[in-house]
Amino acid sequence: MRAGCRWCDVALESSGAGGGRRLRERLRPARLLISAHDFGALPKNLAALVKTLRRCGGHAVKIAANCRSLAEVRRLLQFAKKERGLAVVPMGENGDGPRIVALREGSALAYASLGDAVAPGQLSLRAMHGVYKLNRRFGASASGPTGKTRLYAVIGDPVGHSLSPLMHNAAFAAAGMDALYVPFRVRSLADFMGVVRDFRISGFSVTIPHKETILGYLDECEPLAAEIGAVNTVQVRAGGRLYGYNTDYAGVLKALEKRVSLAGSRVLLIGAGGAARAAAFALARRGASVFIWSRRMERARALARAAGGQAVARGRLGRDAFDAVVNCTPVGMHPGGGSPLKAEELRAGLVMDLIYRPRKTELLKMAERRGMATVSGVEMFLAQGAAQWEIWTGKRAPEPVMRKAVVGALKAEEGASA
Ligand code: NAP
Repeated sequence: MRAGCRWCDVALESSGAGGGRRLRERLRPARLLISAHDFGALPKNLAALVKTLRRCGGHAVKIAANCRSLAEVRRLLQFAKKERGLAVVPMGENGDGPRIVALREGSALAYASLGDAVAPGQLSLRAMHGVYKLNRRFGASASGPTGKTRLYAVIGDPVGHSLSPLMHNAAFAAAGMDALYVPFRVRSLADFMGVVRDFRISGFSVTIPHKETILGYLDECEPLAAEIGAVNTVQVRAGGRLYGYNTDYAGVLKALEKRVSLAGSRVLLIGAGGAARAAAFALARRGASVFIWSRRMERARALARAAGGQAVARGRLGRDAFDAVVNCTPVGMHPGGGSPLKAEELRAGLVMDLIYRPRKTELLKMAERRGMATVSGVEMFLAQGAAQWEIWTGKRAPEPVMRKAVVGALKAEEGASA
């Protein structure tokens, strides 16, 4: 208070029953926030807890609780809406999304760390300003999101590595839009789908490992995405109807076509998941012969049948030559590292990695050492992201802004680890 702080946050245990009033006098002119923390679980009886907090005589009260699911986050936020002068902090491992949604739903404050997080899921001040730009003007409000701010999301597990929030928020800020894009770590798709309507989400990106299972939750899908059997973009339309798209398809073509003449070429895909499906259909439609290796061969065979390609046994890698090899697995992704193939298994004119973080994966370094051309996943990432942004907003994506944000962050990360 002597240092000029305008609010003091005092834990319920420290204020003691009734002791809050004495504290309040002594802290004047600073105001007193009495808070309850539960690092274990969301308390069952929130109303009783708020009563206890209010009895301490502070100016406002706060509940910070560990939410083990998005359904629990929803329960906390819905409770907060009915209570005046209550701030809520949904702690936990559900990504940055819940804490930011709490602000948008009217919670008065969110904590940010200057260094290491001091509570599960706490955001850094750097991320609040640099990634989410929470200090910018949203609509008519002087700063910070409001109930009118349109919300977009990326769902995946893991999702912490994704640069999509940086890319899409940079684009929203550049276009002066009252919109925000946040990540949710989603282990159970059913849990996330249960909150889409209550969190008033306008659209979301789908990433590993949900691109195929999401189809079961959609009302409709563009024919191409339905044929591929993978969706990476969902638009929430009137009446909450969910419409799916696949922008990986256009993204992989944009990145590869500049470097390889696809018609009549031989391309090997490593992996048979969602991104591999988009790549297989895109390449086959451009007239390439598509070969697929995957650690579960039945998946490689199924994709080969669907897209019109061939499954390849691991033993053939290194013996057969390809015009291009494309890594469609997460092996090599930050911070894990590693390579899906050994050096002697690579025989190609060009190697592309769908991974964009780091820009140069171990696979690409290996290919360079063997004199092969390389393409980083960044080009595809930017192309698929710009296409998503255009689907959601109906506006032309500010691609130079998106590129600058993404490449700048990757360069800074590489500089830091060099
Ligand atoms: P996914 O649907 O989960 O598929 C992952 C694939 O990788 C599956 O075939 C899986 O095999 C295989 N795999 C996983 N771990 C493996 C391991 N340790 N060894 C061998 N194979 C392994 O994921 P996705 O959505 O397709 O994404 C795949 C990668 O592409 C991710 O790194 C993602 O970030 C990247 N991606 C980048 C862009 C871009 O714009 N640059 C776009 C889309 C995706 P099983 O089926 O046996 O599990």
